[in-house]
Amino acid sequence: MKSEYIQISRILKNYDLCEYCVGRLVSKLVGKSSSKLVGKKYLKKFDKPSSTKCYVCKNIFENLDSMLSNIFEKSYNLDFKTFNLGLILKNSFLERDDLIKSKFKLKGIENIKFAISSEMAKKISRRTKSKRIMNDPELFIQVNFKDESSTIRTKPIFVYGRYNKKIRKIRQKQMSCKSCNGIGCHNCNFKGLENIESIESKISNLLIKKFEGNQVKINWIGGEDQSSLVLGNGRPFFAKILNPKKRNKILRKSSNLEGVSLSELRKILVQPKGSISFKSKVSIIVDTEKPILLTHLKKLDVLENVKIYDPSKDKKNLNKQIYQIRYKKLAKTSFRLDLLADGGIPIKFFIQNSDVTPNVSELLQNSCHCRKIDFKNIIV
Ligand SMILES: [Zn+2]
Ligand SMILES: [Zn+2]
Repeated sequence: MKSEYIQISRILKNYDLCEYCVGRLVSKLVGKSSSKLVGKKYLKKFDKPSSTKCYVCKNIFENLDSMLSNIFEKSYNLDFKTFNLGLILKNSFLERDDLIKSKFKLKGIENIKFAISSEMAKKISRRTKSKRIMNDPELFIQVNFKDESSTIRTKPIFVYGRYNKKIRKIRQKQMSCKSCNGIGCHNCNFKGLENIESIESKISNLLIKKFEGNQVKINWIGGEDQSSLVLGNGRPFFAKILNPKKRNKILRKSSNLEGVSLSELRKILVQPKGSISFKSKVSIIVDTEKPILLTHLKKLDVLENVKIYDPSKDKKNLNKQIYQIRYKKLAKTSFRLDLLADGGIPIKFFIQNSDVTPNVSELLQNSCHCRKIDFKNIIV
C-alpha cells in the first residue's frame, strides 16, 4: 500500500468523519481538490460508514438547509448580483480541525470555516443567481452558527442632486431623533430623524421610498437659513441610502417636492471624500440702524478679493474670500447686497456686528441686520 493510503487509513481508523471533511483532509494526499465526492470515495474504499457523527464538523454540512432557507427568506426581495458572507463558528470546530491536521501532519488544507462558507456560498450563488465577491458586494450575509442566526445588509446607494428652495420657513437639515440620537429606533421608524418637515426629510422620504432603504444620510454643499431661498441651479448635495432593498430602480432626473424641487438627480458610484469647495451668489436685503448713503456704501468696494476671517472656524477655513460685491440703496435705511463668495463664509455674521473680519457693519459704522438672504446660485 502506498504511504498516503496508510495515512488515510490511520485517519479514518481513529476518527469518524463526514464525506465533506474526509474530502477536504485527504485532498492534498491524493492530489485532488477538496470535495464531497473525494470524501465519499475514500470512505467507501476503507469501508467506513458516512452516517456517523463527524468528529470535526458534527455534520454541519448536512444541516445547512435551515440556515440557508433563513437567508433566502431574508433576501428574496432584494436586488443584488454579488454577495459575500462572513461566518461565526464555535472555536471548538477549528480546534478539532487543527488537531487532526497536526496529528497527521496535513498541510496546506483549507480550514473548516473556509470549507463551510464555500459550501454555503455555492448554494446561495446557485439559488439566487448571484456571484460571491470579496470586495464591496451588493449584499453581505453574516452567518452565526453560535446562535443559529443570520443577518444581512446591502451596500449603500449614493445619489447626487441639487435642490431649489422656492418657499421660506423650511429648514434645511432635519433634527436627529431625540430618542436615539440619529442611530435609528422604533420612535423614528429607524430613520434616525425627528418627524419635522425639512429639505432633508423631503429628500430622504423620496429616496427611502424609491430604493426601499431604511435611512438616508445627506452630505450638503453648504447650507442656508430656514428663511432663505435657493434659486438658480440649486444647491448640490450627496445622499447615501443605507440598506436599500431595491438598487435597480430608475431615478428620474428631477422631482418636485412641494416648495422644494430636485434636479440633476443621478446615482453615483462613490461619494466624494472630504469637503467640496464651492462659491455662492448671494443676494441680501440689509436693514441699517442709521440712514445710509451711497457714499457710505462705496466703502464696501474694499471687500472685493479680500479674505474673510471667522474666529469661530478652524484653520481649514482661513482662505475664504469675497470675489465680487454689488450694492444698491433701496430706502433710507436699507440696501441690497449682492455677493459672489466662497462657500462657508457666515454671511449673516459677515454683515451683522460680530467677530468676523472684515465686517460690513463695522466698515459702514452702522449696525446692519440681514432681513433676507437668498442664494441665487451655487457654483461647484
Ligand atoms: Zn465533517
Ligand atoms: Zn430614533
